[in-house]
Amino acid sequence: MSAARAPEGRTAADVVAATVRPEIRALTAYVVARADGMIKLDAMENPFALPESVRARMAAAVAAVPVNRYPDGSGTAVRAALRRFAGIPEPLGVLLGNGSDELIQVITSALARPGAVVLAPEPSFVMYRMNALFAGIRYVGVPLRADFGLDVDAMLTAIETHRPAVVYLAYPNNPTGNLFVAEDVLRVIAAAPGLVVVDEAYHAFAGASFLPYVGELPNLLLLRTVSKIGMAGLRLGYAVAPPAWIDELDKLRQPYNLNALTQAVAPFLLAEDALLAEQAALICSERARLQERIGCLPGVRVWPTQANFVLVRVPDAPRWFATLREAGILVKNLHGAHPLLQHCLRFTVGTPQENDALLAVLEGQR
Ligand code: PMP
Repeated sequence: MSAARAPEGRTAADVVAATVRPEIRALTAYVVARADGMIKLDAMENPFALPESVRARMAAAVAAVPVNRYPDGSGTAVRAALRRFAGIPEPLGVLLGNGSDELIQVITSALARPGAVVLAPEPSFVMYRMNALFAGIRYVGVPLRADFGLDVDAMLTAIETHRPAVVYLAYPNNPTGNLFVAEDVLRVIAAAPGLVVVDEAYHAFAGASFLPYVGELPNLLLLRTVSKIGMAGLRLGYAVAPPAWIDELDKLRQPYNLNALTQAVAPFLLAEDALLAEQAALICSERARLQERIGCLPGVRVWPTQANFVLVRVPDAPRWFATLREAGILVKNLHGAHPLLQHCLRFTVGTPQENDALLAVLEGQR
């Protein structure tokens, strides 16, 4: 047994300090805010519960799953369901991820040659930068204009200077909610020497898409997720690109990245097109109502949005965030996240009742 004894005074923290990369030790783990019993308007989830009849049929589908077996490693039924649901033409490849988060990790690590660069506008989805750090490659952020539009000239200059292996563009953008001008995005794709990922996580609320360009442009990959349309708990994202891209990225995927319960439930819920479309339409009409009412509040600025959330600037974000929290409403405080987001809060569109509760607190603010 003595061979297993640690040298005198050597702690786990000592070994960690000597072995874990300094940039990882410098991080704080991603904290998911606790929301027990609160109105949850912080994470862009669909606020609507499934109807009882759908839940009962879903339970039956789950009960039939042979959980003693590994799931289908290629997610055949899920891919077929997504092709039908999203209208993905047959010549294009589809790669499934455990959330689109996993696909960002797969893409970034596939392109992480020594000296490679990940480029994205800022502020945008933080996982683009985080995954560059995880993969040990350089990240370059290009500030958006003050109106949150893409600064195309700055993007093109940065592309010329850094020759990025991958450019990430969220369309609509998170956390700003706007759609970049399509012509600007096309200029970025044309100028980029490597891959451009157009991340359409909020596609269901946007009324615009780059799907028609996939396959036409050799360096375009489209990313989507079912998280914002009512299935965040399933963890399912997908990439659409020419097979030449998908075949390579597929090699980095964990063999069983989509569990059997997700594979049973996702095709079943994706077949409920009408229900999903009705919920998305209600979210869009509630979004318009929130924008209008919040726009009338003195000292509050609200930006145009094509996503299922609304970005606002309030006179004192930390105080408003705390007041909402005390009232049982959890939102996202973006103050301090980026210079362009001073005193900004992000409200996910909730149910009509949840939005009423939000408006009641906001309208009571001084
Ligand atoms: N892309 C964007 C732009 C997002 O905002 C999010 C979620 N916040 C994701 C991807 C990740 O979504 P998921 O992993 O749930 O598919």
